[in-house]
Amino acid sequence: MTPRFYDAHNHFHDERLVFCGAATGAGAAKMVVNGSKESDWPEVLAVARRWPLVVPSFGYHPWHVAQRTPDWLNELARCLGTIPSAVGEIGLDRWIDGHDLPEQERVFLPQLHAAAERGIPATIHCLKAWGRLLELLQSHPLPKCGFLLHSYSGPREMIEPLAELGAYFSISGYFAHERKHRQREVFRHVPADRFLIETDAPDQHLPPDRIEYPLIDPSSGDGINNPANLAAVYRFAAELRDEPIEILAEKVERNFYRLFGGLCEDSERRVFGGV
Ligand SMILES: [Zn+2]
Repeated sequence: MTPRFYDAHNHFHDERLVFCGAATGAGAAKMVVNGSKESDWPEVLAVARRWPLVVPSFGYHPWHVAQRTPDWLNELARCLGTIPSAVGEIGLDRWIDGHDLPEQERVFLPQLHAAAERGIPATIHCLKAWGRLLELLQSHPLPKCGFLLHSYSGPREMIEPLAELGAYFSISGYFAHERKHRQREVFRHVPADRFLIETDAPDQHLPPDRIEYPLIDPSSGDGINNPANLAAVYRFAAELRDEPIEILAEKVERNFYRLFGGLCEDSERRVFGGV
């Protein structure tokens, strides 16, 4: 039987993908589409209503916290109440220039609470703030179903304490680049029942020789990642984990449904009300 593929994290609503006419997730059985600021939440909702394979997720990314309006948290609650959805992409980032970690935490924590109190998964972005993230996760309520650390770039030693708290870890095709050796090694140690796969399209593309569906953003001329490269990311992950792709795909499917399954049961896209 052909394996079914699941994209645990992308930004399919991104105008560069819509503009370029990217395939609607060719090969994906489900994809979690993450908003990253108030202004893109309506687009996430629109793609979720249009394509049943989309699991919508609404959140404020740490790069965009300065853009939030006074009503942002109410707006998030409205989105979460409109359609079965997750919280994300949220997080902490000390890599970006001019970061303000206390300000990021003021936005991260209420979103984490929103996921915990609703019992829905959260997707977390973290760069160079792993110690602080672990402290916060250990001292705040977390979603019972678990949470996703997308494109996990933390140390190997933190996998176990994070997994105890309910973490899943997703790998993107970006880690197939030669220089990402350390991170590839870390992903060999992620427990089999916590391993997920993502494209992060339109970002985090594979090395050129692994890209099956090249895509160019006509406005910039830059290459961008097509979510249809999901199968190629699975092939990379199967090599890394040293197991047949069919076996890996079965495990990833189980993991995906354990984390996001509560949002996938209703194929009729049950709508609670308007945004
Ligand atoms: Zn992302």
